[in-house]
Formats: sequence, C-alpha cells, structure tokens
Amino acid sequence: MVLVLLSGCGITKNTAQGQNNQEKKTFALYNVNVIPMTVGNEVIENTTVVIVDNKISAIGGKIPNDVMIIDGEGKWLIPGLIDMHVHNLVDGSPGNNYPTKGASIFFDNQDIMLLYVANGVTTTFELSGRVEHFGQRNEIIKGDIIGPRIALAALIGGSNASRVATTPSEGRQAVRIAKGDGYEFIKVYSRLNIETYKAIVDEAYKQEMKVVGHIPSAFEGKTEEAFVPHFSLVAHAEEFSKQANEFTEEEAYRLASLAKENGSWVTPNLSNLVRIAAQARSLDAVRDLPSFKYVHPLMQDKWITANQYNQGTNPKTITYYDELVEFHVLLVKALKELGVPMVAGTDAGTSGIVWGYSLHDELNLLVDAGLTTEETLAAATRLAATWLGIDDRVGTVEVGKFADLVLLDENPLLDINNTRKISGVFFNGRWVDKNQIDIMLENLAKKNSENIGKDDFLWSKIRER
Ligand SMILES: [Zn+2]
Repeated sequence: MVLVLLSGCGITKNTAQGQNNQEKKTFALYNVNVIPMTVGNEVIENTTVVIVDNKISAIGGKIPNDVMIIDGEGKWLIPGLIDMHVHNLVDGSPGNNYPTKGASIFFDNQDIMLLYVANGVTTTFELSGRVEHFGQRNEIIKGDIIGPRIALAALIGGSNASRVATTPSEGRQAVRIAKGDGYEFIKVYSRLNIETYKAIVDEAYKQEMKVVGHIPSAFEGKTEEAFVPHFSLVAHAEEFSKQANEFTEEEAYRLASLAKENGSWVTPNLSNLVRIAAQARSLDAVRDLPSFKYVHPLMQDKWITANQYNQGTNPKTITYYDELVEFHVLLVKALKELGVPMVAGTDAGTSGIVWGYSLHDELNLLVDAGLTTEETLAAATRLAATWLGIDDRVGTVEVGKFADLVLLDENPLLDINNTRKISGVFFNGRWVDKNQIDIMLENLAKKNSENIGKDDFLWSKIRER
C-alpha cells in the first residue's frame, strides 16, 4: 500500500496541470460512514469507498494497492449537492446592454465556480442559459477549472427576455431553436401569454425537453390552467404565492394540489424570499454576509448600489415579503403532505443570494419548514438528479456512479447544518480538501478586495458602456 499525500498548495491556477497529476489516480476513503441517499438510505458505517477514474468502484472490501488514501474516520460521505436554480456569471453578463453596445465584461470562471466547490455543490441547473454558458461548462469538463456539472435551460419569455415569443408559432420555433442550440431544458417565463405558454410546453415535450419555470401572470385567477401536461417543475414557491387569493393553509393546499394532480415537481426556493425580505429592511443583510467577500466585485457593487429589493422599499413591501416567507412554509408543508416531489434550488446570483453558500441556507429552511433531514438531503441529491435525468450517474453514493462526493465532519442526518462542515470534496475525479479550499477562498477574497471600487467593477460604469 502506497500512501500518497496531497500538498496543500493553492490550485486556483494551473488546475489543468493539477488535473493531470491526479489523472487515473485511485482513491480510497478509509473508515468512512456512507450516507448513500438511495431510496432505502441505509447508512454504511466504517467502510471503505474506492474511487477509480472518477467513478465509485467499490464500497467495502480491501484497499487496493497504489492508491491515495483519505482518512474518513468519524466522517460522513454524502452525494455531491445539486442546486436546481442558479444564474451563473458568464462573460458579457450581467448588463441589459449586452451584446448590442459591446459590453466587455469577462469573468475568471474559476473564481465563479470556486464558490460551488467550497460548498460541495457538484451539479447546478442554470435557468437562464446563454451561449457563453456552454463555454463555461466546457472549461469544467476539460478540467481547465474545477467546477460543477451544469445543466442548461433556455429561457423563453413574452418580452424583455433573450428569447421572446408572443404567438404559439413563435413559441414552438423558439423551443426548436433552443434544442438546436444544444440546451437540455426550457424555462418558461412570467410574461408569456396563455396560448404561447401552452404551445411552448407542448413543443418542448415533442422535442424531449423538460420544462421548468414561472407561472405566467396571465394565469392569475385561473392558476389551474397553467398546469398543463409536461409543465414539469415550478421554479419558486413564489409562483404559487403570486397566484394566491389569500395566504392561508387552505389556499396553500389548493395550490399544492394543482402541482400534485399535474405531476409537477416544485423547487420551493425558500431562501430567496428570506434573503429578499432581509435586504429590503437593510443592506447590512447583504454587506454582513460572511460569504460576501467571495462575491465578484462587480456584483458586490451592484448588490449594494443598485439593490432592487432595498431601493424604494417601504413598510408595506416589507410586510408583503414577510407574508410570502410565512406562506411558503405553509406551501412546503402542503406539498409534503400531498407527496409532491421537491428539489432544492436557490436562485443564486440574485442579489444577496451567494452561489454555493445559499444551498446550505436553503436546506436549513426546508428542515425548518417541516422536511426531515433525509427528505431535505434527497431534495438536493437523488431527487434533483432524477428530475434532471442523470440519476443513473449521480445523486447517490453507489458503485458505478460518478464520484461526485462530499466528505463531512459531522452527520447531516442529525443536523442539516452539518452539510456546511466540509472536510473535502470530489469534483471531476479530483479530491480537494478543506485546506486547499480555504487557501483558494483566501486568495479569492484578497483578489476581490483589490479590485473592488475600480472602474471595471463598478456597476454604474458598466451600465454606461
Ligand atoms: Zn431565477
């Protein structure tokens, strides 16, 4: 048995080289407790997990020769986490003027993706995909940077969207173009008219693309009509609360049963409204986030100087946000009781919602709303993988699956906040331990603090370009 030690040196750059160094390495997680998150989810204590070429090759049995051994004593292994609702920064974004005025904003994709790595988020679902996201994804797949798997949805809206459709035939055409462009999913957006929305959902089914999204406001007063076959995933609890006649338990059940009858799944996205309510009260809720220093300087500036939730806020809107927060808890309880599958998503990238970190907030809120810790973990692992159609490859700790894995210092089934206590992660066949993560984060915070306030990172200046 050869024990290979990992150096703790920074790997923010030259990760491609780091990738090669570890290529075809076999890892053995020794003496670890496995929470497989399979349907039965029987915890396997003090076992060995062998990883060969980025796949789980054995659970239990002997440690093979010539492997890198990772001590798992007293630790807990879970599947990599999945955030089912994100908006990742990519070149050119964000800015309404892109691309017409040639805005030249470029991002270091490793800086963007590090926040997921640090938080054990091994898969993300991008809900406003752009062509640049394919390039971002390819950088990860090639191993040039470390980051999550990315599923891409093309957003189709009735106005003010990158893909606009105002008639059923435009809607069908938009779906077919998105399919041809390589997107896996379609996102329907708020301002679609009823007939166009229905045509998009129908065409997406014909093109074998699942549909996630908002309930367009055109359905107000007739919410049930939005629940057409193959409207597969509601992107926020807010989609229901915007349609609610009153914020009561009965209304929560009425709305939840629409999802149940239609076979639609739901991403509650509780953290979104909690964060919105907090920043509507005070920007300190953003400024004081421990993870704020890791946010790209341009977004730090935007979230403070052009915060859409804080500007023009008043006691009435704050009360409304608070009501939504409470109603969403009722909704989650109703969805759970009716057996509607829920997946975990955060709307990361929206102001005050930090990529990666927000998923742990979401898990915490789902438990507070009445899900068990196991149901909550399932929402961010197996169930999310199932909805995305990748459950044959990820979402559980099983032999043959990809080694998208998170090693935790403590048991998340006892306290969901233990998902934050990360000892190390496996991304794309690479083992990244806590020490490496901390160094990378420190470097990122330093880089951000040096850039903050420079013209290239001021939201007002970028908007003028
Ligand atoms: Zn969103």
